[in-house]
Amino acid sequence: MVSRVIPVEDFDLVVFGGTGDLAQRKILPGLFRRYVAGQMPESARIIGAARSDYSDGDYCDLAHDAIVEHVADVDRDKLSAFLDQLHYIAIDAKGDKGWGELKDLIRSDVITAFYFSVGPSLFGDLAERLHSHGIADRDSRVVVEKPFGRDLESARALNRTLADHFDERQIYRIDHYLGKETVQNLMAVRFGNVLFEPLWNQHYVDHIQITVAEEIGVEGRGEYYDRSGAMRDMVQNHLMQLLCLIAMEPPSVFGSDAVRDEKLKVIRALQPVASHEIVRGQYDGADGMTSYREDVGDPRSHTESFIALKVHCSNWRWAGVPFYLRTGKRMKARSSEIAVTFKDLAHSIFPGDEARHRNILSIQLQPDEGMNLQVTIKEPGPGGMRLIDVPLDMTFADALGPENNDIPDAYERLIMDVIRGNQTLFMRGDEVEAAWAWTDPIIDGWEERGDVPKPYDSCSAGPEDAMMLMHRDGRRWRDIKA
Ligand code: NAP
Repeated sequence: MVSRVIPVEDFDLVVFGGTGDLAQRKILPGLFRRYVAGQMPESARIIGAARSDYSDGDYCDLAHDAIVEHVADVDRDKLSAFLDQLHYIAIDAKGDKGWGELKDLIRSDVITAFYFSVGPSLFGDLAERLHSHGIADRDSRVVVEKPFGRDLESARALNRTLADHFDERQIYRIDHYLGKETVQNLMAVRFGNVLFEPLWNQHYVDHIQITVAEEIGVEGRGEYYDRSGAMRDMVQNHLMQLLCLIAMEPPSVFGSDAVRDEKLKVIRALQPVASHEIVRGQYDGADGMTSYREDVGDPRSHTESFIALKVHCSNWRWAGVPFYLRTGKRMKARSSEIAVTFKDLAHSIFPGDEARHRNILSIQLQPDEGMNLQVTIKEPGPGGMRLIDVPLDMTFADALGPENNDIPDAYERLIMDVIRGNQTLFMRGDEVEAAWAWTDPIIDGWEERGDVPKPYDSCSAGPEDAMMLMHRDGRRWRDIKA
């Protein structure tokens, strides 16, 4: 089975912040991989833009090095052909420099997209100048990165700034978790099979766990991270998006507004979280590893690098089913997973079998993407009906064959969706605001109470209190393993 790659239409993509970390690690390597896959037309152009004075040649050198570093097995001929499609313009988002040159370079008869890979404080300047110089038109697309605000008020302000210049149908707010193949497969599994949907509710589901564990600490992002913390950096966006896809009702059609309407209903149905159902943590140093406070250079920081919380979605489908979310840095492995644990059998017909057999559907997002369904079978051999739980492994790479192993990275897919004009996997303005409206009171509560995060050992599963959050309910977290 070979997947079909459908080329996108011709485009000019301007990457503001084209020399930055995100451009070098994700955007340029991702575009190159789509070029190699045959999805990018030969005439499409990528225009890097930032304040620094680079020539086209200098920029190609930067892109060359970034791609060689971040893409495996680079085909040198293809790389050289790809670099021919790159340009660079020195532009100041806040000044006049470079805008006339960009206006002359941009074609008016192809799709134009503007990737704002810069801090949010520059969004307004960029949007305004793209219009005052007549560069963006009614069909242009604009891509914005997280963080989309740090609370409801700032998110509203950003939405208003963008809305002054672009319609909602032109705005693509990236949450790269939505670009992951498995996340989209979650929707395929739920809505493309008769098997799961009848069980996907409070009658059959005991609880759901969503874990996003990182092995690394805050690394070079200490200054940004310490102003943000795990709640703002991960829960308000990535974990909330995963929760929405798990919990949403079937949309009438797999279309951008139909899907986003259903996700919005989930966010609006989330109950406020009581303080005893949240555990915040901060990693300690151990075995020569630095502590969080050392990493951010603030010995008194109260920012959380870990959070676990129990969330309820108050609607008919999910009444009484807890969603346990946790995410943290410096944990024992890099592992992201959604696990749906189904309820116990109403009655067991097997005498003497006292084990609690449960079906668990686990969806792994990283390091490898795949799904696994735990089912109960008879232990092979003589000796009666002894039952054991075995995984029905659905690792896509194995099932689909080697020709389909080259799954696009989230950024690649999302950038191609921008060019195709497909907003399904991007957050709508009202979704982002609803997520902040739910998050803000939690964060405000910590600030009012002077809440201090619990310390936890580096390379662990987080603070002991996080274990208790589930133990109290007679449940336990799944092991975090790579
Ligand atoms: P970065 O490494 O600091 O790069 C910033 C880029 O913006 C540089 O190219 C810089 O080049 C340019 N720039 C700064 N001021 C400018 C101005 N006035 N006019 C034009 N260009 C200007 O930042 P980054 O890590 O790439 O992040 C970019 C955005 O993506 C941020 O909003 C960040 O929060 C978000 N993000 C990043 C990551 C990541 O992994 N890096 C992940 C998720 C989201 P000059 O200095 O030459 O102008």
